[in-house]
Amino acid sequence: MGRPVSLECAFHPGVETALRCGRCERPICPRCVVHTPVGARCRSCAQLRRLPTYTLTPAYALRGLLAGVGVGLALGLGISGLLRLVPIPFFLIGWLVPLYFIGAGFAVGEAVSLSTNRKRGAWLQGMALLGFFIAFLVPTLLVPAFMRWGDLFSLAGFIVGIALAIARVR
Ligand SMILES: [Zn+2]
Ligand SMILES: [Zn+2]
Repeated sequence: MGRPVSLECAFHPGVETALRCGRCERPICPRCVVHTPVGARCRSCAQLRRLPTYTLTPAYALRGLLAGVGVGLALGLGISGLLRLVPIPFFLIGWLVPLYFIGAGFAVGEAVSLSTNRKRGAWLQGMALLGFFIAFLVPTLLVPAFMRWGDLFSLAGFIVGIALAIARVR
């Protein structure tokens, strides 16, 4: 009574500890404890928690692909329709195009991330990039002089858009 129970770390023989993994209850020492949002974990339990984020099942892959392509296509058609049907002054288009790239990058990345339950990985980055590329390609084909590579604002917006598209899934 009163004396703290001293345990031996399951991973480091001879190292005494009073700490246990909150999931498998194995004794763990301060050297191998992993602090997670749900408490102290041993290394293998912390791994188990992180793993599903990177594991992409075919169903999730398809959802990510559809979300990226679908949102990219919808945005591309939306901005094309807007620019072709509504007379927008030329000086405003100079602002609209870079802002569109930034918004499209964010929206595509968010859609891929949300549709896959916030999973991450190289495949999802590819899907987000594909979605952004479609969002870029559609108005480039449908609207005359949409993308002006010589314009620094458009170029900067394009680059920021790509960065935002992959930021959510990397
Ligand atoms: Zn554990
Ligand atoms: Zn240990």
